[in-house]
Amino acid sequence: MGIIIDDRRVVIQPLNKCRYKGKVAAMDMLRLDLLHPTISGNKWYKLRLNLGYAIEKGFKTIVTFGGAFSNHLAATAFAARQFGLQSVGIVRGSFDTLTPTLQQCRENGMELIFVTHDDYRNKHQPGWAENLVAHFDEILIIPEGGANERGRAGAGLIDRFVRSSYTHVALSVGTGTTLAGLRLKLNPLQHLLGFVPMKQSTEQRQHIIGHLPSEQPENWTLFNDTRFGGFGKWNDELLHFMNSFYEDNKIPLDIVYTSKMMYNLEQMLTDNYFSTFHKILCIHSGGLQGNVSVQEQLIYK
Ligand SMILES: *Cc1c(COP(=O)(O)O)cnc(C)c1O
Repeated sequence: MGIIIDDRRVVIQPLNKCRYKGKVAAMDMLRLDLLHPTISGNKWYKLRLNLGYAIEKGFKTIVTFGGAFSNHLAATAFAARQFGLQSVGIVRGSFDTLTPTLQQCRENGMELIFVTHDDYRNKHQPGWAENLVAHFDEILIIPEGGANERGRAGAGLIDRFVRSSYTHVALSVGTGTTLAGLRLKLNPLQHLLGFVPMKQSTEQRQHIIGHLPSEQPENWTLFNDTRFGGFGKWNDELLHFMNSFYEDNKIPLDIVYTSKMMYNLEQMLTDNYFSTFHKILCIHSGGLQGNVSVQEQLIYK
């Protein structure tokens, strides 16, 4: 099987000093976005053990869920095809024209099933998804965002890139699966900073706590989006930030997750949240396929 994901593509890139000089001792970025243009970033880590399990147990079809801009759906479609598996995406909402993400899913052979926003809320009900995909053989259902035990364990494999000299590891949070996976593997003294690009983070907090042992020390913190109005929302200020970040670092950020993380981190530098001896590793979790909708306003691709 010619799987084209190679961990050796990942690098740790020091950010341009002009962005943190005098505030912290180091600020580097873990470039998981370099893994692969479609299965980029953390999505590959959350999928890899799920796909391995599917192959081992002889499942033929991967079924999963997401919205019209879901990086997880795009990654699943591509990865499933690479593994010789059929894929089905249960999509929230219906569309007269497919979003670029959904188009890409379909090009990678994913069958799309559209359900209303109301109906989509049933996704955790036993039997609901099975019913929708009854005409497929040997299905393995992976929850939205790859948020299961195997997703968490796979995300924990990202720890191989994180040196123990970092005092803080910053990452974007959607379901919280990646944060939980890393929290279980990293040195307890390394503080995790999770940036949730939504107005609230109660669900994510519960999800993360559910994965951690109850005696887990308080070594992780979540931050909400207080500036851009919630998930998928952006404005000119954010676009401007993405372009200026690119000018200084030659690193493309995505509009949903990593741009808001870096924006918030820089705000925290300004507010003197950190001490000058702190060393921060920022995880670039990919998601660049989602930039298609703002492509014209970005100076990079
Ligand atoms: C999906 C995604 C996340 C969120 O990952 P979780 O494990 O669900 O918290 C973060 N960044 C990017 C770019 C993503 O696509």
